[in-house]
Amino acid sequence: MEKFKILITEHIAEPGIELLRKQPDVELTYDPELFRNFERILEIIPEYDALITRSGTPVTEELLERRKKLKVVGRAGVGVDNIDLEAASRRGILVVNAPTGNTLAATEHTMGMMISAARLIPYAHKSLKEERKWDRKKFMGVELAGKTLGIIGFGRIGSRVGIRAKAFDMKVIAYDPYIKREKAERLGVELVDDLEELLRRSDIITVHTPLTDETRNMITKREIEKMKDGVILLNIARGGIINERDLYEALVSGKVRAAAVDVFTKEPATDNILLDAPNIIVTPHIGANTFESQTNVAVIIANQVLSALRG
Ligand code: NAD
Repeated sequence: MEKFKILITEHIAEPGIELLRKQPDVELTYDPELFRNFERILEIIPEYDALITRSGTPVTEELLERRKKLKVVGRAGVGVDNIDLEAASRRGILVVNAPTGNTLAATEHTMGMMISAARLIPYAHKSLKEERKWDRKKFMGVELAGKTLGIIGFGRIGSRVGIRAKAFDMKVIAYDPYIKREKAERLGVELVDDLEELLRRSDIITVHTPLTDETRNMITKREIEKMKDGVILLNIARGGIINERDLYEALVSGKVRAAAVDVFTKEPATDNILLDAPNIIVTPHIGANTFESQTNVAVIIANQVLSALRG
């Protein structure tokens, strides 16, 4: 029997690998570090029927052009911004992702970042643990209860963040021109018609849109100026939705009280300007890093790729 050859170029949770290895019609190459060697991927891609990546493998036109048999590219996760969708579609290559597997992990990370930013938890931790200081006065936070949370992008993650914020007694408003008003109303969330209204009314603002031409730089200096003084900003979605330099300047000036950011325009982001900003909490794109989510994503993408290959 001719087998489908599947190449995995990044780390995928074991249950997904196991599932593929068990299939009698699959020959699997699992090389989780291969994404670091783009030249090598270019060399071997002609042998494969399917490619599975995360966000680290640039699936460019150059790579897709080299394909001989490639039928499907699977992205173990949500965002497909590392894949040239147009180039894939022009060649009849299907692109599939696992958009639901990460939802709860990213939602819970957002809540953790929100509370951390409001209560300065990472700073207090560092002060006590690393500097051995018992400084109770320095870490004066703000409460979430009674505050207005503005959610930009009320999809899977945004809506779940909204539900959780309501349990914290927050007033929740959302801006998302692509959803039905009833979806928000059902959850007790007020959908506002324009971004400006959300910017004006919110004490904390969190973005949960995909990164598109429309959402890149959706929040710049101009938008920040319209926000309340002392607003808290969160980006657990994609780097670049909030302009990094403008956020840096707003943190330095104090217009933005605190920010929490998990995603950056260029990753790894070890020399990003935001790392030098005051009152910022940063994590290295770990929004989806839970055991549960990695298992979900790996199994979902393995099944998606198998269905695509088997037609
Ligand atoms: P989703 O597709 O369910 O929701 C996105 C929502 O954004 C949709 O409702 C859409 O209508 C809305 N939207 C699109 N353009 C908009 C615009 N211009 N203005 C306002 N709203 C707009 O996606 P999701 O699963 O909720 O994921 C949201 C984001 O979180 C994505 O960027 C995804 O890549 C990111 N994410 C990050 C991590 C992480 O590790 N930090 C993990 C999972 C997802």
